[in-house]
Amino acid sequence: MNHLESFVEGKWTRGDKPASLVNPSTEEVVAEAGTHGIDFERALTFARDTGGNALRSMTFAKRGEMLRAMSRAIHTHRDELIGLAIENGGNTRSDAKFDIDGASGTLAAYADLGGELGESDLLIDGDAIQLGRSARLFGQHVHTTRQGVAVHINAFNFPAWGLAEKAAVALLAGMPVVTKPATSTALVSHRMMQLFVNDKVLPEGALSFVCGSAGNMLDFLTGQDVLAFTGGSATGSMLRGGKRVVEDAVRMNVEADSLNAAVLGPDVTEGSDTLNLFVADVARDMTQKTGQKCTAIRRVYVPRDKVDLVVGLLTERLAAVKVGNPANDDITMGPLATAQQLKDVRDGVAKLASCSKVVFGSADTTFDKGFFFAPMLLVNADPKAKDAVHSHEVFGPVATVVAYDGTAKHAAELVSFGCGGLVSSVYSDDKVFVRDCVLRIAPFHGRVTIGSEKIASQAIPPGLVLPQLVHGGPGRAGGGEELGGRRGLHFYMQRTALQGDRALLETITGKR
Ligand code: NAP
Repeated sequence: MNHLESFVEGKWTRGDKPASLVNPSTEEVVAEAGTHGIDFERALTFARDTGGNALRSMTFAKRGEMLRAMSRAIHTHRDELIGLAIENGGNTRSDAKFDIDGASGTLAAYADLGGELGESDLLIDGDAIQLGRSARLFGQHVHTTRQGVAVHINAFNFPAWGLAEKAAVALLAGMPVVTKPATSTALVSHRMMQLFVNDKVLPEGALSFVCGSAGNMLDFLTGQDVLAFTGGSATGSMLRGGKRVVEDAVRMNVEADSLNAAVLGPDVTEGSDTLNLFVADVARDMTQKTGQKCTAIRRVYVPRDKVDLVVGLLTERLAAVKVGNPANDDITMGPLATAQQLKDVRDGVAKLASCSKVVFGSADTTFDKGFFFAPMLLVNADPKAKDAVHSHEVFGPVATVVAYDGTAKHAAELVSFGCGGLVSSVYSDDKVFVRDCVLRIAPFHGRVTIGSEKIASQAIPPGLVLPQLVHGGPGRAGGGEELGGRRGLHFYMQRTALQGDRALLETITGKR
């Protein structure tokens, strides 16, 4: 049996009481991973001391070079990683590339940022502010690296990108990382860690890897540490209430569930580029990674008189999807990642169907083995605030078309029933509608994308998280924020207001 070890205290370490990792297409066990017996207190101390000292002695530029080497290590082994994602994640080749290229691309973007920030080890926040009567006494805000460890806990759906996007930002900020992928799909992240270790791209202690349960690791967090979590909101809430998090005010970021919406404007007509873009984005989000994307469109708001048109166009695309084992080249959508996921999706569509009508797909399966679920589209013709479509995230290839009255006010009110999301999108060429709708839904989201005729040929899908833009959202989405270029670094650094003689402040900040 392929036993996946953790990498802590600078060495590969085998843990006991392993859980099985399976191929979700065949249900065959492909590996096992466990952490029982690992001393997490020592693991965190080693990362804080050995890794922290090494990283803090480097400038942003040097840390950027390190991220570049990590990015290259992934890219060099891209095909091998794609194979593992097909085997353990049920990804199609294209899904696997989305995850793996997302990982190397995000590391490369933060490597570039390291170069831009240059030979410095602190960030200056805003201009100096004159505090006294003369031009001598000044105040200046700066960000310095926190002296703890960044613990990263990731969800099952992006084993490559999840590890890389968090690690890129923390390492560039100068914090050592202990990263933990979800156990069920850890094969890809485990191989990535092997590549980083074999290629010696990181100083000792800078990146540790926990493969299996987090055990009692979070009992050893301290006030200089940070905890970044991605996963279900129930787990996020539980971790937020953890003793150390509460008592030591451990800084925590949560990226959780999201009922992302797409709103079609009333001006959009049949055959237009804007409508085609809208339909392509919804269909892609439903099926890419078998709908297991935190940013996937779940709610599709359509003016009442265009519901039939949109349902017709979407079902045409969904009917062309070929579900099966992604090891076969002709397959365009693989299985869900785990048996639990399949159960959750089946339970979830039963909830949605209590107030919506299934117009495409069925919960029945024709497969003897594997966690397959074909795309499903529902319609909610008379939406109410309490309908499950506004409160229950089905993490699979499922979306609901919801009718609205064609006004921005009604669309935005329905979107707001989702209680906060990662990303929603508005498709329209009517400037008044777009402004009204975007400003009404923006307070509920970390990101809003606008699809229109002029950018239809070069649009970036709403489901794609970019390192330059923030990722996260209020309320149900966890209230967190990651990435966003330089903004992401602030989570791993402490903002301090310095006050004193201007010349001394400028010496500290490196301006003199
Ligand atoms: P999950 O069950 O909440 O697990 C997430 C992570 O938390 C896993 O690594 C899991 O480890 C770990 N974990 C579970 N219990 C823990 C505990 N007591 N202490 C420490 N760690 C613990 O979520 P999931 O099923 O992997 O992911 C699906 C959910 O994630 C969906 O709801 C989706 O919306 C959300 N998601 C959000 C984003 C975003 O960016 N907002 C991105 C992706 C996914 P084990 O695997 O070892 O149990």
